[in-house]
Amino acid sequence: MEWRARIQIIYKQFLTLLGQCDLCGNTLFDKSLAESNLLIHPLLCVSCYAQLPLFKQTLIQADLLNWPAINRALPNISFDHLFCLSPYLLPFTHWLVQLKYQGRFELATLFANLLAQQWQAHKSVGAPLPVDLVLSVPLHISKWQVRGFNQAHLIAKPFAKQLQLPYDNSALIRVKKNLSQVGKTGIQRRNSLTKAFELAKDLPKHVKHIVLIDDVMTTGSTASEISKLLKHNGVDRVTVITVCLTLPNT
Ligand SMILES: [Zn+2]
Repeated sequence: MEWRARIQIIYKQFLTLLGQCDLCGNTLFDKSLAESNLLIHPLLCVSCYAQLPLFKQTLIQADLLNWPAINRALPNISFDHLFCLSPYLLPFTHWLVQLKYQGRFELATLFANLLAQQWQAHKSVGAPLPVDLVLSVPLHISKWQVRGFNQAHLIAKPFAKQLQLPYDNSALIRVKKNLSQVGKTGIQRRNSLTKAFELAKDLPKHVKHIVLIDDVMTTGSTASEISKLLKHNGVDRVTVITVCLTLPNT
C-alpha cells in the first residue's frame, strides 16, 4: 500500500477513536444520540447520514426491479428482488475502495448497519418475508488468499446478526476464477461465469427464500449465476442486497 494511503487510514482510525464523523470531522460523541439510537454508526454524524445519496425505497416498494429503467438494464437476471443502498456515488465509491483495497474493515460494519436499518424500515413495503438464509457472494480461494478477506462476507455477517437471520459462509463456493469482466459484453460475462459457483452442501429443505449479499452490482451476471444454482437446489426466491448499484448510463 502506498504510504500516503497508509497515513490516511491511520488518520481516519485516529478520528474514529476521537469520535469524529468520517465525512465531516465533526465530533460525534453525544450521549443523548447514542442512547436514543439515533447514532446510526460511530463513523457517521446524523447530518452526514441525512445527506447520504440513498435510494428512496418507498418509491420503488423496496425493490429496484420495480424501477423500469433498472429492470430494462438487467434483462437476463434470474433473481427476484434487488435491494441496494445507493447508486455508485460518493461517499460510497470512496468507502468501497477503502474497504476493498485499504482494509478499512469498520466500513463493512457501517454498510451492514445502513443496510439492516434500511431493510428493516422498508422490507414490509414490497420484499417477501420471511428470509430463511443469508449468503454472501464468495471469492475464489486464490483471490481470497491474495486479499485475505471477502468484503461481501464482512458486510453479510453483521447484517445477518443485526436482523437475527441465519447466515452461512460455507454453503456457497466459487470454483472458477473470475477473470476480469472489464470490457466484456453481457454474453461474454455470462459465459465466463457459467458453473463458476457450487454448493458445498445441501441446503436445508425449509430454505425457500435466500438473501444474497454483495458489495456492488453492475450487470447482475454474478448474482444471476448464483441464483440459478440456488433455484436448481430447491430455493424459490432470491433477493439480492448490495451496497451500491451501478446505474445504467452512469
Ligand atoms: Zn458528518
